[in-house]
Amino acid sequence: MKYYSTNKKVVGETLEAAVVKGLAADGGLFMPETIKTLPASFFDEIANLSFQEIAYRVADAFFGEDIPSETLKNIVKDTLNFDIPIVEVKENIYSLELFHGPTLAFKDVGARFMARLLGYFIQKGDAGRVNVLVATSGDTGSAVANGFWNVDGIRVFVLYPKGKVSEIQEKQFTTLGCNITAIEVDGTFDDCQALVKRAFMDEELNKNLKLTSANSINIARFLPQAFYYFYAYAQMKRLGHADNLVVCVPSGNFGNLTAGLFAKRMGLPVKRFIAANNRNDIFLQYLRTGKYMPRPSIATIANAMDVGAPSNFARIMDLYGGSHSAISAEISGKAYDDNQIREIIRTTYEDTNYLLDPHGACAYGALCDMLLPAENGVFLETAHPAKFCQTVERIIGKEVEIPGKLAAFMRGEKQAVPLSKDFTDFKSYLMRL
Ligand SMILES: *Cc1c(COP(=O)(O)O)cnc(C)c1O
Repeated sequence: MKYYSTNKKVVGETLEAAVVKGLAADGGLFMPETIKTLPASFFDEIANLSFQEIAYRVADAFFGEDIPSETLKNIVKDTLNFDIPIVEVKENIYSLELFHGPTLAFKDVGARFMARLLGYFIQKGDAGRVNVLVATSGDTGSAVANGFWNVDGIRVFVLYPKGKVSEIQEKQFTTLGCNITAIEVDGTFDDCQALVKRAFMDEELNKNLKLTSANSINIARFLPQAFYYFYAYAQMKRLGHADNLVVCVPSGNFGNLTAGLFAKRMGLPVKRFIAANNRNDIFLQYLRTGKYMPRPSIATIANAMDVGAPSNFARIMDLYGGSHSAISAEISGKAYDDNQIREIIRTTYEDTNYLLDPHGACAYGALCDMLLPAENGVFLETAHPAKFCQTVERIIGKEVEIPGKLAAFMRGEKQAVPLSKDFTDFKSYLMRL
């Protein structure tokens, strides 16, 4: 399979080049040349298949031409060593619990897959030593750091905004050591993302170091997120609730939602999508006005969605040929401020005993507000509520139990390199390596 850039100046890249480069040389995001549709027989039998079997069929459609089938099977199997169950919250509304992986957020799926795929290319001996740069508003850093920890030939630099991630999130990527370095940037998430983007575009840096991205701009992190949309459908089919399926995704950089749109393009019977936002509602404004107007991000209690310039918007535009009407026909949107998010968490817990995290709360709220009578709704619960325990405990007035996996991180000691948000500082740090 060949990959082209959303800026259209780069075409015909190999999978390996796309994964190792992360961002295309023209500044665009890589897209696969074709999105294969899966046969009707696959959807007929999907309810009888395991998650790993389903994921392999989807992975094969994208990567089968480039990776030997046994290797790809193993990568899928190693990546998905945890379940992603569907849980009924109330009538017609189901939670797809994406938080059962090692760092308790959905990004474990993409990060674990990408680490293994990159590891395969390095082992083959053509990729050399690779430096992964990743900007995080919280959960990406932990998923990537844990997914790549101790993988030979890869060094990871996690850039995060000082004082703007929760203590638990911070501990998950600052305590690992080994090939993982945390960089504490005196700025916002957008500043971190801008530093990473500039580093990829910097000629001198790229001459000295092989740099790649593990943000959802990287095709190897983004595409595997399609796996669980198929698995969600399979589980809904088992429950007899797969008709008129509406999927609601709490969105920041829109990698997760875009993977769902790819799944639909591959034939997955999803009727429509809802993009849930916090106050950073750039996409919702685009749906309303047809104008894409990025703006500085605002800090909210759903901090992994505090994104002012969603990077995967370029992929959505490309997928729909830039047509606002085609995009609005398949995706609608809704946004919630912090008080509304708190209210959703509190009332849902009181009414159903289901504890939402602040991100899942946006999606649950949007689904409840927008689901039509004959529809079945699934929302993506993207993180475990205990990752935001201080926020959540204040809302429900009760202690939240911390899962053992999370408690283990809290015992580690934070180590981070402090840097300003100036690119020159970041560049000279990298040049000194
Ligand atoms: C990253 C993240 C999101 C946003 O996902 P995108 O793919 O960037 O849209 C939502 N919820 C949680 C918990 C996250 O970590």
